[in-house]
Amino acid sequence: CMNLFADIPSPDDDAPALVAEVLLPVALDKAYSYLVPAGMALGEGDVVLVPLAKRQTAGVVWALRGVDGAGSNLRSVIGRIDVPPFGKSLRDFLDWIAWYTLAPRGLAMKLALRVPEGAGPDESRMLEPPRIGVRIAGEAPRRMTPARGRVLAALADGHMLLKRDLAHEAGVSASVVDGLLDEGTLEAVALPPMPVVLPPDPDFSRAGLSEAQHEAAAALAAQVRDARFSVTLVEGVTGSGKTEVYFEAVAEALRAGKQALILMPEIALTSQFLARFEARFGARPAEWHSGITGRKRARIHAGTADGSVRVVAGARSALFMPFRDLALIVVDEEHETAYKQDDGVTYHARDMAVVRGRFDDAAVVLASATPSIESKVNAIKGRYRHLVLPERFGGRQLPSIKAIDLRRHPAERGRWISPPLVAAVNDTMAAGEQALLFLNRRGYAPLTLCRHCGHRFQCPNCSAWLVDHRFRRALVCHHCGHVERRPDICPSCHATDTLAACGPGVERLAEEVAEVFPDKRAIVLSSDFPGGAERIRAELQSIADGEVDIVIGTQLVAKGHNFPGLTLVGVVDADIGLSNGDPRAAERTFQLMQQVTGRAGRGEKPGRALIQTMQPDHPVLRAIVSGDAQRFYAEEIAMREEAGLPPFGKLAALIVSSPDRAEAENHARALARVAQAPSNVAVLGPAEAPLALVRGRYRFRLLVRAERGVDMQGYLRDWLSRAPKHPAKVRVAVDVDPQSF
Ligand code: ADP
Ligand code: ZN
Repeated sequence: CMNLFADIPSPDDDAPALVAEVLLPVALDKAYSYLVPAGMALGEGDVVLVPLAKRQTAGVVWALRGVDGAGSNLRSVIGRIDVPPFGKSLRDFLDWIAWYTLAPRGLAMKLALRVPEGAGPDESRMLEPPRIGVRIAGEAPRRMTPARGRVLAALADGHMLLKRDLAHEAGVSASVVDGLLDEGTLEAVALPPMPVVLPPDPDFSRAGLSEAQHEAAAALAAQVRDARFSVTLVEGVTGSGKTEVYFEAVAEALRAGKQALILMPEIALTSQFLARFEARFGARPAEWHSGITGRKRARIHAGTADGSVRVVAGARSALFMPFRDLALIVVDEEHETAYKQDDGVTYHARDMAVVRGRFDDAAVVLASATPSIESKVNAIKGRYRHLVLPERFGGRQLPSIKAIDLRRHPAERGRWISPPLVAAVNDTMAAGEQALLFLNRRGYAPLTLCRHCGHRFQCPNCSAWLVDHRFRRALVCHHCGHVERRPDICPSCHATDTLAACGPGVERLAEEVAEVFPDKRAIVLSSDFPGGAERIRAELQSIADGEVDIVIGTQLVAKGHNFPGLTLVGVVDADIGLSNGDPRAAERTFQLMQQVTGRAGRGEKPGRALIQTMQPDHPVLRAIVSGDAQRFYAEEIAMREEAGLPPFGKLAALIVSSPDRAEAENHARALARVAQAPSNVAVLGPAEAPLALVRGRYRFRLLVRAERGVDMQGYLRDWLSRAPKHPAKVRVAVDVDPQSF
């Protein structure tokens, strides 16, 4: 650091030198020490550029301390990067995540680190091109031309235009404008940057709430006003108006001059939500997901720190934004599995939202028609507040739901839609209404085999079948993305014309729909839809606008959307998720069935749902058909309690993986030998993980089950500290609260 004014004593000259403990975005727990150069004003939480080996890297000042003896050997901080600092509550939150998930602190910090590409010290403001306004200054032009006349006309009556727009507006070249500026006829004014989103107005347009809605909304608003940490579960049937209700909590946060965060599982697809928000508040929320990039991303990020961004609607990563004054966190569809992050730091965004609420003294609202067992138990035990909306808004009825027993009403050979469902679709079409055929399977067929030799197409990197994607003319692995061409000849026995698609995917169902209902407008919607989120948004809108008769879709269309003309939901195969041996299978299927059947009858006309199944007596299907959700919860909770499963006990998993199967298995066994589990902890395994091979890595799993009172993190740390050294290619991943087990 060069001091150009060496003869002027800097005010910091006598201040004791400081050392910054800088956390780097790498898989390490410990912070690195750097000297703070004299005269550099640094605070805790600042984002800084520091040298690391031969490179420079961004990090965050986690703590500042005085220099001890060894200080002079340290390298120095290069400079501060002008992005929002990590406030105290955000740092505490990230430390907590590292503690809870056992992720290295550096990786937890990385969840929140956002440094623009190529940013050097104090350079990031350069990202914002200045906005220059131009207006008439008074000096008469030395010479008049028609072009100059047009410029002056465009600025008549004290008009100001952006410099970059003026030439275009007046139909002249930029040099004409520059000439007038030089002569002092025009003057340039630096304008403040445009806000990245307009501020929402809490009183823009309030809906008339029903009595039940009003009561719930008032309770939530009171929690927000209270400005203390609280958690409320809002449990309302599909169409009960949960969104309208939590909007009132958002309004209360805005009135208090504070910020709100709304987490959504599929924010990139929810244009309907954005439109509703705008109708209520007169402006859109700031969106935050992977589709928001570049300068917009930087401005929204900075806006949450300076408070100019008041409401963020985002994916789980929005939890790590540098909010200045967060009063409310809403977790919409809180039961969704999309909230679990499985790569890197494995965390559940719903649970982390509750923790962030605690550090920020915010009200947390969990909303769902089908709460997770965990949240339901927390509500029943009084750990969370509980608000219930038992009825659809406006006297609308929940759909009537019936099971179709496929053993009695099988579909024709090679078909998947049974005669009763065909008849129901025909009735619906005759009434001019819409039908949704739900099948939670992407692609054409989940399995391709050779009828001659029995060869099955398997992913070379994963223990999974390759899925036939006809539209893409390819066989695709849904776990690693491996793609290969579907051959005409069996690679094993070389027979021709013997390869057969087994089982249905949505694309195959679409073929059947085209044959059975040839004159209807049908659309297939899944995450494979070409064109990405923008196109899917548009298609969802066209369904809502009634431009489609039959929708064939995966869970992508099952959730949250409002299709007013949709009166029939047909579930093509309700058994898919029920028999995979996962203890959460019942809960998952129950939630999915409730969500998808809840798409029916949200408009003027009542709806119905028909569910095709081979096991109509399964408790999940009985609960769905009878509409007795509470009974399902009671049974499922009793079962969990008896088995000591979450939330009555704790679970964690260690996944040991390696490209070498024996290496992975050996290390998993070595870990098991040093488990030293106390009597209230059970270590099960190692066993092959449910997906035994993923992306070329063999996976073995150790499952830890503990009583509720056990310090799981303490036990796991202790155990891992005893782990023997392992070969370089072996990795051990910790998953606290695994979602499938
Ligand atoms: P949920 O989130 O519980 O499924 P929504 O908030 O999406 O329910 O509401 C379902 C439908 O009912 C939406 O079309 C919504 O606009 C409408 N609705 C709910 N409450 C009201 C209200 N108070 N006034 C007008 N429309 C409402
Ligand atoms: Zn694969």
